[in-house]
Amino acid sequence: MRITACHAATLRLNNAGACRNRRSNRAEHRAILQKEYILSFTELGLIKPLLETLANQGYETPTPIQAKAIPAILEGRDVVGLAQTGTGKTAAFTLPLLQRLHGGSGRGKDRVVRVLILSPTRELAAQIEKSVRDYGQKLSLRSTCVVGGVPIKRQQQAIRNGVDILVATPGRLEDLVSQKSVRLNNIETIVLDEADQMLDIGFMPAIRRILKLLPAKRQTLLFSATMPREIRKLSADYLNDPIEVTVATVAKTADKVTQSVMHLPADGKVNAMAKLCRTHPGKRIIVFSRTKRGADKIARKLNAENFGAAAIHGNKSQGQRTRALDAFKKGTMPVLIATDIAARGIDVPGVELVVNYDLPHVAESYVHRIGRTARAGASGLAISFCAPDEIKLLRAIERLIKMKIPALSADGSPLADSDVPQPPRAAKKADGGKPNNSRRRHRPRRRAA
Ligand code: AMP
Repeated sequence: MRITACHAATLRLNNAGACRNRRSNRAEHRAILQKEYILSFTELGLIKPLLETLANQGYETPTPIQAKAIPAILEGRDVVGLAQTGTGKTAAFTLPLLQRLHGGSGRGKDRVVRVLILSPTRELAAQIEKSVRDYGQKLSLRSTCVVGGVPIKRQQQAIRNGVDILVATPGRLEDLVSQKSVRLNNIETIVLDEADQMLDIGFMPAIRRILKLLPAKRQTLLFSATMPREIRKLSADYLNDPIEVTVATVAKTADKVTQSVMHLPADGKVNAMAKLCRTHPGKRIIVFSRTKRGADKIARKLNAENFGAAAIHGNKSQGQRTRALDAFKKGTMPVLIATDIAARGIDVPGVELVVNYDLPHVAESYVHRIGRTARAGASGLAISFCAPDEIKLLRAIERLIKMKIPALSADGSPLADSDVPQPPRAAKKADGGKPNNSRRRHRPRRRAA
């Protein structure tokens, strides 16, 4: 992979006044990153067992986030990574952390948790822990995943048996800490993954409480798809002289996906969805619904027509969520219906079609959603349903991605600009005041993942 000057320009080095050692290390980073450079995993300083595993996985070159973050993490630096899933972010932090732990862990029950990875959702936590096991298959390190929605006993036993790397959702981790089932005083590195989603879900107070329990001398890695003010503040409060690594902005990922928007009445969506399943037989389809009830309704309709669909959202048991995701990954159940909360960060290769059954209230979510297809360089298709009362949301998305999404009519034929419906006109207030159509500013719902 060619690391261009443009990528290099996004690497910012903070606090020029750090010690001389740091300065020379930074100079090396700059040297790597400022010229056009073709990097290999070997050049990044990874050890042989990891290189062999990467070769077995078919990874030939590091992705930009890996090229930038791996050397910094190996060196022990704090890192703020502005990157979303699909960029190779998990390997970017997992590989160097495995290398740092290698050779230094105890045996059996003497192992202590030295790396803590926090994830906003159970599915993402499970996915990260699987990556940790996959990438670390040639090293003798142990990891486990602790999340809510499943019995705590087995997790307590796994920790008692000795663990080097713990992947957790914040709620379950706090439960384990309060029951004295896990000690955090040996943590050398903490990773906060998808920090902006943790903020959305309402995990920020828990994150701050957990950070206070960790040794002051530690490495902190923070990854986030966006950098809202609260995440900047978190970074300023808890990271020490971090290197900032940025790869492709959120809006950029929309480029690789063929997008269209189907204008139709709200009550025509269910039938349009069934029709899409008929016209894409056997294809892997992810459908995004704004509400849990809506997701269940779509699943019922599609199953009634034998399309093989399951819904995942916060009201489903962990067993149901895991079974649905596994069946979708294996391809035995081709349609997955999800709410944003359950789906972000989930990496399923080969998703051919993303359907936005409802348009999201937060424009950035659109980009995350359609990013479920076109992963790892592949191309993909995204179709969004837009009822008349969603046109304002559509305009906000188009402003974010800086493009007009080609319009289709309810039967799927192209729609001329002049035929695209306009947002419903607002009724004037009786007192002659401003029209009362202002949608309440969206505040993310706070729910446990
Ligand atoms: P992530 O952003 O961590 O969710 O990774 C997205 C996908 O890219 C995963 O399926 C990884 O297995 C894959 N991947 C990560 N790094 C590389 C690489 N250097 N070369 C090829 N595929 C990769």
